[in-house]
Amino acid sequence: ARKYVVKNHFKGVPKREDYELVEYEVPALKDGECLVKTEWISVDPYQRAYNPNVPTPYDQFGYQVGVVVESKHKKYPVGARVVSHKGWADYTVISEKKTNPQDSDYLLPDLKGLSNSVGIGAVGMPGATAYFGLLELCKPKAGETVVVTGAAGAVGSIVGQIAKIKGCRVIGFAGSDDKVEWLEKELGFDKAINYKKADIAKALKEAAPKGVDCYFDNVGGEISSVIISQMNLFGRSAVCGSISSYNEDASKQPKATILQPSIVFKQLKIEGFIVSRWLARWPEAFADLIGWIHEGKLKTRDHVTEGFENVFDAFVGMLAGENTGKAVVKV
Ligand code: NDP
Repeated sequence: ARKYVVKNHFKGVPKREDYELVEYEVPALKDGECLVKTEWISVDPYQRAYNPNVPTPYDQFGYQVGVVVESKHKKYPVGARVVSHKGWADYTVISEKKTNPQDSDYLLPDLKGLSNSVGIGAVGMPGATAYFGLLELCKPKAGETVVVTGAAGAVGSIVGQIAKIKGCRVIGFAGSDDKVEWLEKELGFDKAINYKKADIAKALKEAAPKGVDCYFDNVGGEISSVIISQMNLFGRSAVCGSISSYNEDASKQPKATILQPSIVFKQLKIEGFIVSRWLARWPEAFADLIGWIHEGKLKTRDHVTEGFENVFDAFVGMLAGENTGKAVVKV
């Protein structure tokens, strides 16, 4: 079997040399274990963001979907599809015994004919992130204005569509004209803005003349300060990620305008979260998300990279914004 091991703490953009592709013999299965052949691997921003906090070397963690090919596991028979956090490996052993809370796995929900890749996207961790971050923290009401950054990505594209389902006016920021067109024409965003070209404050004022009620923040940095400064009284922001600074070294963090006056005078509620807070409720999110997809209210799109040997390229490509929709690798 093969797996990617992270050798170094990344400096700036991750480099191929920071990884080693290790080949090893899979040990014979013990009772309570099964062998899974990986079919889909997820590349995600947190694989960059967590890197400074994990002692090296470590196996590159992350979500993946695979099929059970040998089993002594009570819940996972041969042929079952399993979602696990075993990361960038072409075969993995999953055990009934868990050594740490990160080591979670579950049967792929019945996707009713959708590609299994959706199980690491809209009906996986990113979908749950969009669902709970928006509905539990922003609590959008019909008629309100919702803004999302990183709008054409895995999480952001689902956030905007759920907000539309809830009857909101939705504005998304993304990094290319093609992404903007996809958001407006395919996903039904009321307005999408290319943050690389626009005067953000002016464009937002035009798109949201009545101000912003909810802000789902995927990127952090100055754009978030501009958006927060245009929020309405008692506005709510779910702080999901800050990808604009993940590749920056700590001494060169980008500067952003001071936010406290807006937070105080508009009495904003700004809350960070990690989606595992609602882990026990993910199935609830998945049921709604699958339903909306089949009703045609929620569209998903994969940005597929082919081949296990190309996982690293998919990862840095995603960090650079090459993906529209969910970045996945077909093994
Ligand atoms: P995406 O699919 O959105 O991919 C990352 C995207 O980030 C790129 O496509 C790119 O799009 C954008 N990006 C890259 N650099 C910058 C930059 N400097 N400024 C603005 N945008 C940038 O990834 P996910 O949907 O998986 O993740 C989105 C966010 O959600 C991340 O911050 C991630 O860490 C966070 N997250 C948080 C979770 C939680 O539990 N809190 C769980 C899952 C994700 P573009 O072309 O638009 O620049």
